[in-house]
Formats: sequence, structure tokens, C-alpha cells
Amino acid sequence: MRLKYAITVGDPKSAQIVAYQSRSTGDSHLSREDIVTSLGVTQHRARAGLALIYAKYTKDTYAAATALRELQLYATTIAKKYLPSNSGSGVYVAISNLAILALDEYCRTADTPGAKCRCGGKGEIRDMKASRMKGVPVQKQCPRCHGTGLKPLTRTRCHHAILLVHPISQATFSRYWNPFYDDLLAWCDRQESIAEASYNGYANLNPYVMETDSQ
Ligand SMILES: [Zn+2]
Repeated sequence: MRLKYAITVGDPKSAQIVAYQSRSTGDSHLSREDIVTSLGVTQHRARAGLALIYAKYTKDTYAAATALRELQLYATTIAKKYLPSNSGSGVYVAISNLAILALDEYCRTADTPGAKCRCGGKGEIRDMKASRMKGVPVQKQCPRCHGTGLKPLTRTRCHHAILLVHPISQATFSRYWNPFYDDLLAWCDRQESIAEASYNGYANLNPYVMETDSQ
């Protein structure tokens, strides 16, 4: 079972628990207790990643606050690597603003208002040419969202968020701040993977928490 589904089982607030459990009976040996236990272990080993996953998939505001603190901490530790040392006033607020935007972007799902791509969030569209040639409906990856199902975001909003507190040119933004922002997004994905690996590792080691959904 993927961690992002497990959390909907482990989260007592989630309305999806009932729906999930009714779907998964007979298909999974995981009891709710097993899942909660392995989530506890993951919480201990991959705190930031788990907070990120909760924030993204359950829209939990407490988890989002935890994730933001961790991301802002990371952002300040790597800022020197990307940003000119004589950055001047407002730079710390700008870093903090950028972390907020990166978390927002990471947390976008097809359910997020206004985030759905024109393909309807499926990430694929009908390939008209191939469909005509084969005489059956053929799907292809949506060229707008490249399969994510989400409307792509431009970086203009990042530049604007920095401008509020720290005047920089478009060139400075592109050269220094844009790669910094990429790093923040990559960190979120990395933490998610670490949490997934921790959760799955625990599930594989513990004979009472069996991974059966993928079989
Ligand atoms: Zn699309």
C-alpha cells in the first residue's frame, strides 16, 4: 500500500477511511492498527516527509504548518548556496515567502480549486490521429500538464512574492532565485520519497504489516 493511501486510513478525521476499508477488504492484510503503527514509525524517521504527505493528500493544516517550518529551515540553510551574499534587506522574508509558495505548489492536487488542467485532471487526452488510424479510442499524455493533471504554474508569482519585500530584476530572479525555488520543490519530493521508503521498509520488515496491495 502506498503511504499516501495509508494516511487516509490512519487519519481519524478522514471520511475516506470508510470508503477505503470497504474497498480493501479481502485485498489487504493490513488492519487499521497495523497502518497506524507503521505510520508512527515513519513519523519518527521521516517527520518532514510525512507532514508533507499529510498536507498534500489530506489537506491537514497542522501538518502543513509542520511541513512549512521544516521547509523554511531547509530554505535558510541552502540560501547561501544560491543567493548573492550582498542580497540586502528583506531577503529573509523573501526566502520565507518562497518556501510558502513552494509548499503550495507541492501540495496542489487535482482537487485544489483552480488547479485542474484542461484535460480534466486525468493527465491524458484522446489521441485523435491514432484513434482514427486504429479505429479504437487511443489516449496520449496531455501536452499541457505532461501527465500531472495540474495546470502548470508560471514562476511570475514567485518573482512577485519576492518583489513585495526585496526588489530584484527579472534577470536576478532567473539566475539566482529560480534554481533556489527548484531546490525547494525537489526537497519536498525527496522528503516524500524518504517517508515512502521508510513506511514500505517497515511494512516489509514487520511480518504483521504485509504489503499486499501491489501484488
Ligand atoms: Zn492536462
